[in-house]
Amino acid sequence: MRKLFAIALSVAMLLTMCAVPALAEGDRITATGVGQGIDGDVVVQVEADATTIYDVQVLEQNETPGLGSVAAEQLPGKIVEANSIAIDGISGATVTSDAIKDAIRQALSENGIDPAPFEIAQSAADAGEMTAETIDCDVVIVGAGGAGLTAAVRANQEGAKVLVLEKMPFAGGNSLKASGGMNCAGTKFQEAAGITDSGVQEFIEDTMNGGHQLNDLALVTTMAENSAEAVEWLESIGAPLPKVAATGGTTHKYLHSPEDGSPVGAYLVAKLSEEAEKQGIEVMLNTTATEILMDNGAAVGVKAEDDKHDYTINAKAVILATGGFGANFPLMCKYNPSLKNAVTTNHPGATGDGIGMAMAVGAATVDMDQIQLHPTVYQATSMLVSEKMRSLGSILVNQEGKRFTNDLATRDAVSAAELEQTGGYAYIVFDQNLVDNNKSAKEYIEKGMAVTGDTYEALAEAMGVPVDAFVETMNTWNEAVATGEDKEFGRNNGMDADLSTAPFYAIQIAPGIHHTMGGIKIDTDTEVIDTEGNVIPGLFAAGETTGGVHGGNRIGGNAVCDFVVFGRIAGANAAAYAGAEALAPAA
Ligand code: ADP
Repeated sequence: MRKLFAIALSVAMLLTMCAVPALAEGDRITATGVGQGIDGDVVVQVEADATTIYDVQVLEQNETPGLGSVAAEQLPGKIVEANSIAIDGISGATVTSDAIKDAIRQALSENGIDPAPFEIAQSAADAGEMTAETIDCDVVIVGAGGAGLTAAVRANQEGAKVLVLEKMPFAGGNSLKASGGMNCAGTKFQEAAGITDSGVQEFIEDTMNGGHQLNDLALVTTMAENSAEAVEWLESIGAPLPKVAATGGTTHKYLHSPEDGSPVGAYLVAKLSEEAEKQGIEVMLNTTATEILMDNGAAVGVKAEDDKHDYTINAKAVILATGGFGANFPLMCKYNPSLKNAVTTNHPGATGDGIGMAMAVGAATVDMDQIQLHPTVYQATSMLVSEKMRSLGSILVNQEGKRFTNDLATRDAVSAAELEQTGGYAYIVFDQNLVDNNKSAKEYIEKGMAVTGDTYEALAEAMGVPVDAFVETMNTWNEAVATGEDKEFGRNNGMDADLSTAPFYAIQIAPGIHHTMGGIKIDTDTEVIDTEGNVIPGLFAAGETTGGVHGGNRIGGNAVCDFVVFGRIAGANAAAYAGAEALAPAA
């Protein structure tokens, strides 16, 4: 979108300016200022005179890696290039961007330079003059999340010249936030762990049951049957997932995760990005696709734009890997108005662009009203508390200090049970043993999300729940783990360790929007299907932008399996279509 920059002068700034004598033009300063970031002060050094900002450097920041830290890396250069603070902040990192701008304002105004001229867009390009540019490639992939990066690496392996467009300043999308693992069946890692009861058939059944049989069985079967090969492929590009555990909503052990317990999403996005770079695949960041180009009923490229260019990207095949619409409240509320005030775990780029672009060229959609609430979201920051926490042994306790459900039932069931509790929230309770075995748990504690106590009594007091009831809940749960039988709620997995190692922790959580199960209709070759039931030639889609795989409820660990399996199929088939105009074998 072309940029229109507002002239923003705050009264506070004017007052500050009046208090300091202005420097003459040509008097250069090097000064520091401080802005307030998400995680404390952001200290910025600026070199400037009255008309020019020569250099900006972020000296200190403690912002979220991959989000705020990206603003710290990218915004200073943009400010110098534009010679203006009146440029858009980095998408997804508004607070950090504003902190950097505030720090610059402070450094200038406290050292005799009027920041006002820098509050106006300076260059013609920033004022909205765009340059037209045309790029040719074999396969253009829209979106550099898990599905897009997987498809890119695979299509390139198949010999296609690939270009990836990503509207955000960083790759990863919602995939970056996946913290649990990847469900796969029939893998060598399961075999090595002696797991023999969690095969392809069980995986299909659990996925269909979890999705209330609304899923497209053909897509689910394709996902399950290709999952073992997908995990081996990940290993072949340096991203092994050897640890196997159970996941919420199933009784089986499919969830594959990194050896060191790292969150799976950040791990895979980093490995896929490294592989894409190694293969020389170009990923254009800050570049938004807006339209699919069609010729004679076939997709032949996309229109896209960044802040200076209008691109026409000619391609032989197009892959939409734009993710879901869990950050697009108007669109979600069209299907479910009750979500109006819910928090979302989604990254800000999850606005459903691909679905809109596909519909504009005749694509059909499925299950658009199926929007998943995740039961364990820390409401203050919308941060997801991973399902793996429960797989590793955590329990859910209500304001009365009692358990109220099978903590590892499907996400929709646990969310519904939570909403019936006092205040519509609950606590996820865990112990030091779990913290020692899970990096995410450490992160939650470091971020100040948990209350803690050295005894169950102390923790109950910190939570503000009745002490006696809570102590009884914990003792009853530890007995259930010892006997392997949860008499109260019939939980039958995530019971390998009890919760008896002090200190103890609790995080207050409630349901939040997590995954949009509906989207573009595809077949098992990831070809996009139109409203008449025909394939749209040259147009492929994979990942959360598609519908049908998860039906009415997604099982934890299936988003990653979805993006790896269907990302691979899309990459291979788009490359084949681009070269031979005939589909290659899916796997
Ligand atoms: P998936 O798991 O299906 O890969 P993600 O949410 O991880 O989904 O990734 C989708 C990516 O697509 C995100 O990085 C998002 O910013 C990007 N994206 C969404 N819309 C556009 C668009 N119009 N142009 C370019 N990139 C887009």
